[in-house]
Amino acid sequence: SLLDLYDLSLQGRRDTPALDVRGPSGQWHTFSFGDLDIRSNRLAQVLASRGVRAGDRVAFCLPNRVTVVDLWLAVVKLGAIAVPINVLYRGREIAHILGDATPSAVVTTTDRAPDFEASCACWTVDALEADASTAAAIRPSGRADAATPVALIYTSGTTGVAKGAVLTHGNFAANALSLLTAWGISSADRYFAALPLFHVHGLGNGIQCWLASGCHMRLVERFEHEQACDWFEDYRPTLFFGVPTMYVRLLDTAPARARAIGERMRLFVSGSAPLPAQVHEDFAALFGHVILERYGMTETLMNVSNPLVGERRPGTVGLPMPLVAVRILDEAGEPVTDGKTGELWVKGPNVCDRYWNRPDATASAFVDGWFRTGDLGTRSADGYITLQGRRSDLIISGGFNIYPREIEEVLTSLPGIREAAVVGVADAVRGEVPVAYVVADTDLDVSAVEKSLRAEIASFKVPRGFVRVDALPRTALGKIQKHLLPAWTR
Ligand code: ATP
Ligand code: MG
Repeated sequence: SLLDLYDLSLQGRRDTPALDVRGPSGQWHTFSFGDLDIRSNRLAQVLASRGVRAGDRVAFCLPNRVTVVDLWLAVVKLGAIAVPINVLYRGREIAHILGDATPSAVVTTTDRAPDFEASCACWTVDALEADASTAAAIRPSGRADAATPVALIYTSGTTGVAKGAVLTHGNFAANALSLLTAWGISSADRYFAALPLFHVHGLGNGIQCWLASGCHMRLVERFEHEQACDWFEDYRPTLFFGVPTMYVRLLDTAPARARAIGERMRLFVSGSAPLPAQVHEDFAALFGHVILERYGMTETLMNVSNPLVGERRPGTVGLPMPLVAVRILDEAGEPVTDGKTGELWVKGPNVCDRYWNRPDATASAFVDGWFRTGDLGTRSADGYITLQGRRSDLIISGGFNIYPREIEEVLTSLPGIREAAVVGVADAVRGEVPVAYVVADTDLDVSAVEKSLRAEIASFKVPRGFVRVDALPRTALGKIQKHLLPAWTR
């Protein structure tokens, strides 16, 4: 059980400060590992008294707070299954997850309870905390093994309907150990946690690295870029895990401050979405740190690759993680040669082997022990993986393959263009043609942009239309939802 791994901290480092969270009046409150062990024993007793048994799903839709940690540990101790729900989700999205996961109950804040009450038993976090404060701190006796599911985490739904990845104790433990080894995470680290705990990046990685290593974590409710530098200076973290939009925001930091922060940081990690090469470069110039870019997905608990050894090469997502195998296959299922594009397939102890309730999606994505990622990429002769976007985003124009990512990279390297998304639109002659949506500082000089593009890429890749938008539609973690872009009219 994952608990054996956590006990190195929960039992072995009982009196060590483990977690800072902010209290209602803004001051930091510190919990030791022993405090967290006791709190989660109490909460587990409350859940058990409300009928939660091994194998039951317990959903939660909560902002980052200590009770999310208690709840995770209680679920692990009970052999139950956690189902995190994105706090930004509303009607349809919530109905889909509740209908699919059929949890015993969902835990949420009082203000969100009306969103759940009609379709599911709903427990407010305040009521659970109150009950837990008087419950006996007895650890449940349930035992889980490596194959026991511990979380049902829904994919982001970027390409369609979210699927529930059934992740086991074994998947979580292997993932945590692989990260600790690869990134040298130890109890001496200080992890600044600003990622939401309802997502695999925060819950499946940040929390796991912390509990498995016994390091210190400071948890904030959300990343606020105006405050981020104050937080870095005050807390002096050695680890920061973020998504690309956070790094884009950090580029506004004053140079002297950025240098001082960079000097103390051990690892700035980015994942969940592509980090534009320009951001890589600008961040390195400002903070003196090459961001470690990771690649992965919900089904693999985030970890497929990262530049853990060797140089960090901007624009690539590095080498496979320890214990993870990657192969790149063409349409016919044959391995491609180095440098050629294909679909990435992965295998490893951190990779789940099925979706909840979805035999169809399971059968097409999990084949002979391999997981088909749906992402396209290449591998260099020395093993570095470069992503080219999702198979479903590929544009085929007049028989040529166009990878939107390549055009987006060029666009965001142009002065004044902050963000870009390129999509294919139907075209009577070429089948599809690329169109660009951009967030720009000023009005677009389309002919100047086209001229710059023509100098860098083939003319068939130059978008036929440019649309300036105030913002790109994004998921809570900053992934661009291309299907939500406004329609383009010639
Ligand atoms: P759904 O599967 O429901 O459509 P999703 O794939 O966005 O949603 P996640 O599991 O949260 O859900 O995201 C994984 C995907 O994010 C990967 O398959 C890949 O397309 C993208 N991704 C992750 N890391 C990177 C990265 N470093 N660079 C580019 N893309 C990335
Ligand atoms: Mg996916």
